[in-house]
Amino acid sequence: MSQTFVVVAETRGGKLRQVSLETAAAASLSAQPDDRIAAVLLGSGVSAFAGELAAAGVSTVYVVDHPALEAYRPDAYLAALRKVFEHVPPDAVYLGHTAIGRDLAPAVAAALDAGQISDVTAIERKGDRVVFTRPLYAGKAFEKKTFERGPWVVTVRPNNIKAIEADGSPCETVTVDYPAPSLRSVVKDVVKKMSGKIDLAEAKIIVSGGRGVKSADGFKPLEALAAVLGGAVGASRGACDAGYCDYALQIGQTGKVVTPELYIACGISGAIQHLAGMSSSRVIVAINKDPEAPIFKVADYGIVGDLFEVVPLLTEEFRKLL
Ligand SMILES: Cc1cc2nc3c(=O)[nH]c(=O)nc-3n(C[C@H](O)[C@H](O)[C@H](O)COP(=O)(O)OP(=O)(O)OC[C@H]3O[C@@H](n4cnc5c(N)ncnc54)[C@H](O)[C@@H]3O)c2cc1C
Repeated sequence: MSQTFVVVAETRGGKLRQVSLETAAAASLSAQPDDRIAAVLLGSGVSAFAGELAAAGVSTVYVVDHPALEAYRPDAYLAALRKVFEHVPPDAVYLGHTAIGRDLAPAVAAALDAGQISDVTAIERKGDRVVFTRPLYAGKAFEKKTFERGPWVVTVRPNNIKAIEADGSPCETVTVDYPAPSLRSVVKDVVKKMSGKIDLAEAKIIVSGGRGVKSADGFKPLEALAAVLGGAVGASRGACDAGYCDYALQIGQTGKVVTPELYIACGISGAIQHLAGMSSSRVIVAINKDPEAPIFKVADYGIVGDLFEVVPLLTEEFRKLL
């Protein structure tokens, strides 16, 4: 029997988030040819993004456009999703493993009496089963899991599953009425703290600083390198605790989990809690003056040296190349 996979898409700063296209690809990888991939766009002024989802293999986009959905509120979003599920009862719901996805997924699972697998990094369809891979023990091991029965809810880690470009098959847009329910929460203000314009979780290149940068000013050479490479700046908790940068930049077990193509760790020792947030990066470069620093054990390329000499040299050389 054909199944319906529903992708909950996210927008931010007037754009559809890349992770939503990856989540649509995750749903496609889980589906069989006669299954249906639908997506939900929740927010205010979001209908314009339906076309982008169509290009990612989605056949129907359900749009709930309402001022009450402008900023994320779990009760408002869940109420809107319940409305959508009246139109399209899902066999599976896929969300990004983002701040919103992590908050909303358990509520969706409870609403559907569904099982949930979080932080999925790979998906394989094996006959009737879909096998999900997810990291364990701060990325030291991976487990493969499947569901005995549906419905199920899955969150997909950003930057792991490649977005697909579909063949341009037609996509239907359905506007869903949303009489805003009486909500318990109110968003008073959204305080944005990001490393420049690029979202750390979705950045392809990250230049990260640790306690070795020694001061807030010590981040300036790292910012210059990130700017030349078109990347974002991140940090270890050591740097955040020392007051050199904002906790919004923290990467690791209690910070953000990132999977960029290139991670440049500058003056970071490589504590297990930091590795938990970045060890799945495709290429890791470590710059540290201590040749015994544990970060070198996970690094693909290591530079033993003073970051204040090495980083400006790299910036200069990349500037010539790019
Ligand atoms: C429950 C818990 C959760 C945690 N969560 C996180 C987390 O999410 N993220 C995280 O990062 N940490 C986390 N930590 C902290 C973690 O254990 C480490 O303390 C922290 O990562 C160390 O930060 P650091 O590498 O910047 O500092 P340090 O360990 O002090 O390392 C600084 C490094 O800089 C090098 N250095 C110094 N000067 C220079 C220079 N001029 N040039 C080049 N290299 C230089 C030194 O050789 C050293 O290796 C957590 C800890 C606990 C207990």
